[in-house]
Amino acid sequence: MIKKVSFFILISLIFSSFFIKKIDYNKSYSYALYATNGALLDANVSNDGQWRFMLSSDTLPEKLVKSLIVFEDIRYPLHHGVDVWAMIRAFYLNVKNKKIISGGSTITMQVARLYFNSKERSVIQKIKEMAFALILEQRMSKTEIIKLYLENAPFGGNVIGAEAASWRYFGRPLKTLSWAENAMLAVIPNNPANVNLLKNRNKLKEKRNLLLKKLYHFNIIDKQTYELSLEEDIPEITIDYPHNAPHLLQFLISKYPNSYVLHSTVNENLQIETYQILKRYKKDFNANNIRNAATMIVNIHTGNILAYIGNYHEKGNHTDAFSVNIIESKRSGGSILKPFLYATMLDNGELLPDMLIPDVPTQIGSYAPKNFNRGYDGAVRAHSALARSLNVPAVKMLQWYGIQRFIDLLRKMGFTTINHSQDYYGLSLILGGCEIKMSELARAYSIMANSIEDDKKQAFQWAYIKDKNEAVQNDFPIGKAASYLTIQAMVDVERPTDEKYWYLFKTKQKIAWKTGTSFGFRDAWAIGMNTDYFVAVWVGNANGEGSAELTGIKKAAPILFDIFSLLPSVKYWYSAPYDQLQLVNVCEQSGYPTSPLCKDKVSCICPKTNIKVRTCPYHHEVFLDTSLQYRVHSDCESVQNMVKKTFFILPPTMEYYYKKRYPWYRSLPPYRADCEQKNQESKQNIELVYPQQFTNVFIPRNLDGSNSSILLEINHRFPQTMVFWYLDGTFIGQTQGKHQMPIVTSMGKHILTVQDEFGESKQIEFNVLNQNP
Ligand SMILES: [Zn+2]
Repeated sequence: MIKKVSFFILISLIFSSFFIKKIDYNKSYSYALYATNGALLDANVSNDGQWRFMLSSDTLPEKLVKSLIVFEDIRYPLHHGVDVWAMIRAFYLNVKNKKIISGGSTITMQVARLYFNSKERSVIQKIKEMAFALILEQRMSKTEIIKLYLENAPFGGNVIGAEAASWRYFGRPLKTLSWAENAMLAVIPNNPANVNLLKNRNKLKEKRNLLLKKLYHFNIIDKQTYELSLEEDIPEITIDYPHNAPHLLQFLISKYPNSYVLHSTVNENLQIETYQILKRYKKDFNANNIRNAATMIVNIHTGNILAYIGNYHEKGNHTDAFSVNIIESKRSGGSILKPFLYATMLDNGELLPDMLIPDVPTQIGSYAPKNFNRGYDGAVRAHSALARSLNVPAVKMLQWYGIQRFIDLLRKMGFTTINHSQDYYGLSLILGGCEIKMSELARAYSIMANSIEDDKKQAFQWAYIKDKNEAVQNDFPIGKAASYLTIQAMVDVERPTDEKYWYLFKTKQKIAWKTGTSFGFRDAWAIGMNTDYFVAVWVGNANGEGSAELTGIKKAAPILFDIFSLLPSVKYWYSAPYDQLQLVNVCEQSGYPTSPLCKDKVSCICPKTNIKVRTCPYHHEVFLDTSLQYRVHSDCESVQNMVKKTFFILPPTMEYYYKKRYPWYRSLPPYRADCEQKNQESKQNIELVYPQQFTNVFIPRNLDGSNSSILLEINHRFPQTMVFWYLDGTFIGQTQGKHQMPIVTSMGKHILTVQDEFGESKQIEFNVLNQNP
């Protein structure tokens, strides 16, 4: 007998040197996605159609390992891959009983069998397995070998590996299983074909109890555990693997193709309950021809993603473009980027929160932005324009700031999909004329919110997966003070009555929020944050189909507020970063830095920076007659009879709308009849200097004969007024003080439009010729 065994070993070693050069145990595995509490969120089948899970933890499941060794291979810690005594015993038992009772295989040999994946039970096959077992033992530790077993042993049907089995039979992570549950798992791989929880439950229970008895016998479990374990029933049904984060799973597979165990930062309850919220809107979605929705929750302190619903879908219904992961898709953002423009202008001293921004019908080239509510306020304070998401003031602000500058800023913030030039986007950039990804939007806002935090307890690391942080640039391009003021402006302080849905969202919680709707009602957005969480919501159709009811305020905001009511309420709010704020004296009425003419001065809180906003342009001195009823001037009245008064005066178009909204506004008194002629003249503030209407313009030549630029010029009655220049409908620049604009243009007819910031404009046509005659 001993000779025979020695012969086996000899043959085995010969095999090892000839046939097996390298252990390539390269099975295809399932990707398994776990929540922070260890719950399985989602998983897919492996390439060969198996639910083959890698162990979810680096430490081996101790109870299962002990159960397995007792059941399969009691001398596992001692032998070198082949257990001679076990084989002798098996041989003896098989001969005695005249049938195969035991194979005498060690765990290592079973790993070898799984490696060869052969159904053959011949002596040759057995020798091959022994040889391989010896090699495995030489090259791998006992722990590594048992891990291979735990990840590749069959557990019935296409369930492979103990982790997959644990979720299939118990719906729990392997490490949480009881002794009885582990014992049940340990006995399955020996005869997995017989696992049928309905038919063979008694047999399975019997085998399990026998193993429990052995565990007790070997003092691995105590008497009480043994007795209690016997009381435990075996499960009645198998449990389907959950599919609670299919889009996140696919996204992470493409991102980390070599990580089969994905321990995400997702909170299981939030993920499931957020999905339930979307589901509650199903009826409303259906009624309005809306099929898709997506949402994301981020922890502002850590940058961890807490919930990730890439697309709303009905269970089992994978049509309706369900496979599209909206979070990573390019969508039009509507007004959702406006807060960044507001913030950066505050940051650069180019805007003050209370400053009046023109809100009048505007035509810029062929482009006429309209407010969502189709009305105009004439002039509106910057913070209010942001809170109410008015489009015309946003376009004005972008004009002032510069389109290319804003594109550069957004790219610095991590918006990778905004990569065209300013000519491509034009001013509609601020109204959704560019495509963004929800993930990048969420990241930018979360970093912004995080940057305001006073005492950071943790480093912000944008992460979907624990220990796999995305690189986040530390230098957020907007200062803390401006970010703080922007978030303050987004807090629901007083919503205008024309947004008739806002009252539905009155919650106990303080939330800074913003909605957005893209052109053609294709994308409805809502974003919101408090001091702990950032939430983004998108509603629409993945194929871009619009719906008349699809607006951010109507469809996305209700979901946003439902999600916030799900989140733990926050007691604190951002504290003002006083060291980075300053008080500036501004005109109470205009919000601009005070001029000597401004009557009421107030303090305005703004970032500590060099304020580039000019002094109040709206307070003017006018001369009235002694009755104070009429305006006069020195040509029609003697200076002694003129009374100097200061008026808050908006340019005519602004005044027209402003007066409707604010009845207290007092227009200038009319000119006295004998003074009217001068008045007619004074309405013209813009005077064209060069070129004149319908004239020919010759391209000047440099000394070397090359073309030089043409210098366009106008005069403005108030030189400090901002003037915007458009050539053939395209914005070419803005001037203040000296109004000259050099252009290089083609031959032929051109249309020059100049417009001042108050809406007054002049347009001329001129003809460019090749050379001086
Ligand atoms: Zn003023």
